[in-house]
Amino acid sequence: MSKRFLAALLLTFAGISASHAADEVVVYSARAEQLIKPMFDAFTKETGIPVKFITDKEGPLMERLKAEGPNTPADVLLTVDAGNLWQAANEGLLKPVQSGVLDKNVPVHLKDPDNQWFGLSIRARTIVYNTKALKPADLSTYEDLANPKWKGKLCLRTSKKVYNQSLVAMMIAEKGEAETEKIVRGWVSNLATDVFPDDTKLMEAIAAGQCQVGIVNTYYYGRLLEKKPDLTLALFWPNQQTTGVHVNVSGAGVVKHAKNEKAAVRLLEWFTSEQGQKMFADLNMEYPANPAFKPDTVVAGWGSFKQNLINVAKAGELQAAAVRLMDRARYK
Ligand code: FE
Repeated sequence: MSKRFLAALLLTFAGISASHAADEVVVYSARAEQLIKPMFDAFTKETGIPVKFITDKEGPLMERLKAEGPNTPADVLLTVDAGNLWQAANEGLLKPVQSGVLDKNVPVHLKDPDNQWFGLSIRARTIVYNTKALKPADLSTYEDLANPKWKGKLCLRTSKKVYNQSLVAMMIAEKGEAETEKIVRGWVSNLATDVFPDDTKLMEAIAAGQCQVGIVNTYYYGRLLEKKPDLTLALFWPNQQTTGVHVNVSGAGVVKHAKNEKAAVRLLEWFTSEQGQKMFADLNMEYPANPAFKPDTVVAGWGSFKQNLINVAKAGELQAAAVRLMDRARYK
């Protein structure tokens, strides 16, 4: 046996073991390890299908999928925000999936119209306020926060965060650009201080009285109140008489060059099952995407709300327009 042949043979074996065993599923995840590992363990226990995964930010994961092309070991891309999922589909990294289980378990507004990705948990981006400064009756809608009565009282997170880009994109989908720009300009002129790098710092500023009201994802509220239960903060569900609370998703799609599509679909389906939904939503204090199941008791304690039923794919389609609009409005 020639040395070169031996080297090639070894490389082949190494390649197989590093990439893909026949009946395992490989996940690229932008969701943190502590939120996904327990689910994969439960899935493996139930189905016998092993799960391998890597975690990273969505940008590098998508770059990696692009670079690996047909040679990728990945079967599933798991990430947060419909804007990111839409981007992955738009760049040809995912493939459409036909599954009666997913069709039944995931509401139409929470998945890609072409079935390339599916929302698995709902993240509500809602209003938070200081209960020493305001009563629920003072609040009504996202749009109302542009009213000059809130001058110097509003705190916002940076427009660089995809969550706010998605929120504004959905507003564009509903109201058009001109109307949305008016609202965003109103927000900016009501800001009490510079924009915040994250939702938690924003809530701490509200609790400290630097401002009275802001917009956050509810799971950050849950995490903060768990650590500091005495903060005088409460959530408010806006737009209940109109369009509903802005929701987004964590979700997943099957990778275009998946080696084990069957197991990949099985994993997605399992995520939408009772146990999968419990774990997917509860581990991060989010809401189950499957309406058959209830959120955990702490989350349920924040009250129920009418959600906006516009398809979350719009967050991706209109993301670039939203970024330009926020730039014009000098929302930093
Ligand atoms: Fe987040």
